[in-house]
Amino acid sequence: MELVEKQRGYALPWSNPREKDGALGYALANLAELVGWGRKWSLHPLTFGVACCAIEQISSGASRFDIARFGAEVFRASPRQADLLIVSGRVSNKMAPVIKRLYEQILEPKWVVAMGDCASCGGPFNNYAIIQGVDKIVPVDVYVPGCPPRPEALFYALMKVQDKVQSGDIGYRQDGSIGISTDLMKK
Ligand code: SF4
Repeated sequence: MELVEKQRGYALPWSNPREKDGALGYALANLAELVGWGRKWSLHPLTFGVACCAIEQISSGASRFDIARFGAEVFRASPRQADLLIVSGRVSNKMAPVIKRLYEQILEPKWVVAMGDCASCGGPFNNYAIIQGVDKIVPVDVYVPGCPPRPEALFYALMKVQDKVQSGDIGYRQDGSIGISTDLMKK
């Protein structure tokens, strides 16, 4: 081991020979940190898309991008088994009550990503048929700009959601649901 380290000129943190002795070792954390850590690496998005941004969302699951690296590859077919709503695309007035119902059926605590310009603010569709931002009907945790955003941009949003989840600052939102958002009502 020392010979290898001498050859490469530095020591890796796991190259300590003591780690080879089979000792279990230990780590210290409080329960909130552990729960937050578990939650952030096990996001369960709802299988759901409303427009062209959904194609990029679907691409994020492909091997080229691999959403599994963020522990969020298990898209659930039922809102009752999901905790993350990715609104990927423009939201029409006709679709709004459907999204609201899906959001209400998702397990708590729950998180919402507005993916793309349309979901964030209406995008190029400034007309009476399109909701000018999905935050008019459900709370949004992270907005992703772009038309459409690349899968990498969605991953950045996932990392932002993970940061918020890990923070553990979870409580009731103004609409009565439980999660993290800018309109969070403190516990
Ligand atoms: S942001 Fe662009 S790609 Fe996404 S739903 Fe709107 S028009 Fe389509």
